[in-house]
Amino acid sequence: MPELPEVETTRRGIAPHLVGRSVTGVVVRDHRLRWPVPAGLGRHLVGQPLEAVERRAKYLLLRFPTGTVLLHLGMSGSLRIVGAATPADTHDHVDLVFGAQALRLRDPRRFGSIHWVTGDPARHPLLARLGPEPLGEGFDAACLHAAAHRRRVAAKTLLMDSHVVVGVGNIYANESLFRAGIRPTRRSDRLTRADCERLVKAVRTVLKEAIAVGGTTLRDFVREDGSPGYFVSDLRVYGRGGETCPVCGAVLKTTRLGQRATVYCPKCQR
Ligand SMILES: [Zn+2]
Repeated sequence: MPELPEVETTRRGIAPHLVGRSVTGVVVRDHRLRWPVPAGLGRHLVGQPLEAVERRAKYLLLRFPTGTVLLHLGMSGSLRIVGAATPADTHDHVDLVFGAQALRLRDPRRFGSIHWVTGDPARHPLLARLGPEPLGEGFDAACLHAAAHRRRVAAKTLLMDSHVVVGVGNIYANESLFRAGIRPTRRSDRLTRADCERLVKAVRTVLKEAIAVGGTTLRDFVREDGSPGYFVSDLRVYGRGGETCPVCGAVLKTTRLGQRATVYCPKCQR
């Protein structure tokens, strides 16, 4: 599933190819995504220049003079830049055509979505109630500590709550808690201010590293062979249950929290 680093990498990958260019066509081969692709999308977009590609949580915002395309990659979506005449594959559901190039959405499981939003996209119901960006100034130890003490949930559940901070999915929650030395099952109201300081720092570091790794795969966004160009950064615990801890050598334990695989070191994480 594309997590925040993949979405940010996608943003950086596509923006240089498209910003400043005008939409010349919209091709919707299958409108049945998580929500139907708006019927009038072509009417809204054709002739308009793309002004910017922004990101909020795991949404991409394609900004046009009269509105914004709000795009989510869902469980299996990916975006590529292809030649406009490149034959579409079964799962290539939507193209935004910019002259000779097209931005092509592939989404085998069709949990992705496209909305057309006029006015301030931050007020759209999908975005309005989201917590701060993990790499932005709004996410700090004070706000995390306050949120932790308003709730009595597992530390990992806290971190994955998009009202607390957005874009920390299962993989990065596991990795961040390991780096901060905090057990995923620790009750959030037992997190100290110092724990929160370490956790904020760990979340930022883990996400920045993943984005940096993603940067080396940018070429994938202009490849036409269909590989989405996702990547796995240096994961220390996720997917490594039963292996030894890279710090202390203890055997990493696996448990389930909120239905999600959770891996931790019983010695390093308290
Ligand atoms: Zn350890």
